[in-house]
Amino acid sequence: MPTNQAGPNTAIRNYPKLLRRYQQLLDLTTDLAATFDLDTLLQRIVVAARDLTDSEASSLMLYDTQSHSLHFEAATGGLVSGVGQRTIPADNSIAGWVFTHGEPIVASDVLNDPRFYREIDVITQFETSSILGVPLKTKDKILGVIESVNKQNGTFTEEDVQILQTLAAQAAIAIENSQLFMQSDLIAEIVHERRTPLAALTAAAHLLQRSDLPQSQHLRLSDTILNEVRRLNDISTDFLELSRLESGRTHFQREPIHLGGLIEESLELVRPQAQSKDIKLETELDSSVMPVHGDRKLLKQLLLNLLTNAIKYNRPKGKVVVALRMEEKEHVVMEVRDTGRGISAEDQEHLFERFYRVSDSEDDVQGTGLGLAIAKRIAESHHASITVESATDHGSSFAVHLPTDSPSEATTRPLIEPPL
Ligand code: ADP
Repeated sequence: MPTNQAGPNTAIRNYPKLLRRYQQLLDLTTDLAATFDLDTLLQRIVVAARDLTDSEASSLMLYDTQSHSLHFEAATGGLVSGVGQRTIPADNSIAGWVFTHGEPIVASDVLNDPRFYREIDVITQFETSSILGVPLKTKDKILGVIESVNKQNGTFTEEDVQILQTLAAQAAIAIENSQLFMQSDLIAEIVHERRTPLAALTAAAHLLQRSDLPQSQHLRLSDTILNEVRRLNDISTDFLELSRLESGRTHFQREPIHLGGLIEESLELVRPQAQSKDIKLETELDSSVMPVHGDRKLLKQLLLNLLTNAIKYNRPKGKVVVALRMEEKEHVVMEVRDTGRGISAEDQEHLFERFYRVSDSEDDVQGTGLGLAIAKRIAESHHASITVESATDHGSSFAVHLPTDSPSEATTRPLIEPPL
């Protein structure tokens, strides 16, 4: 690693400055620990990184498990404009090197460094000449990278490396805390969602205790109890599934899948439900469709979520069609079409949000509002997307666009990357 060692004399000469920097860092640490809003936090970190290392600018990238790349999350000075939602490949950049090796780097002459990823300079019109990069490490994983760019006078020193590493260690803890804090919103959400069925259960149980309750009401109340217990159970199961997918704890298999077979199997599972509403199930399967690579169990769950919705929100004697076709050699499209109530343009914007239910579905159809959020997560983990087309009162179509991959990609490209 080409770091510049500063001799002991320089260190002694710079002592007051060093002390000032550590004092600054100490003040910041208390500040960081008290900041839970991620954007504010990241902005404070990059400003501190720039100031503590006497650099022209600083930036912070966090690793995104799905795209296997580093996302720019915050930057200062000249780097700000244009950096926006940019990403940097984790395997072909200086930041990527820091991330994969988990070590700091001083690149004093980036233009002659083959790892340098020029695209960001092109976008931001910023001229990078030197970079000091350090990993954002917690106890058990690496969250991303902080970079200080262009040392103001001279080159990055060993003290710069050390101070940025100390900042990064504090920053990583603060970032993780902030992420955990955001996750606790998830907990708040589930607690909230469980309140309604719990209130219904409590009320039903109280009523059952009354000696003057007519016998005819007993059956009705026990029905309510069964329904609400089922609902609580569904909420818990779906929620657990979703939080596993979101936290990256789901274990993904990767195998070739013939979607035709998977569709037939799934249709068998939902046939009783369709029959009870007198709904016809049909297929339009193009036999030339290539297998896709992915996790069979999860893709089946995705399809089942779409199918059960197509049946639940259909009208009696309606129809559900599952179609499978190629889309320009690059994608396989698996589509579920129904003749149901349809979804307004306004509701379509929110369908995939956790716990979102169209208001007029709430009364007559049971659901958790998590099915589509789960479907979307599964699609994303397969580098796929889901599109919706719908007309109120005429029906809806949900299409999953799955990439077909070349044999080499099929074995090398991961589904979701497991967190380090
Ligand atoms: P739920 O458990 O409520 O079905 P989902 O996340 O699967 O949750 O769906 C969210 C909402 O989207 C549903 O409550 C329903 O209002 C609407 N929706 C989903 N699929 C359809 C469909 N095929 N037709 C009409 N509305 C649908």
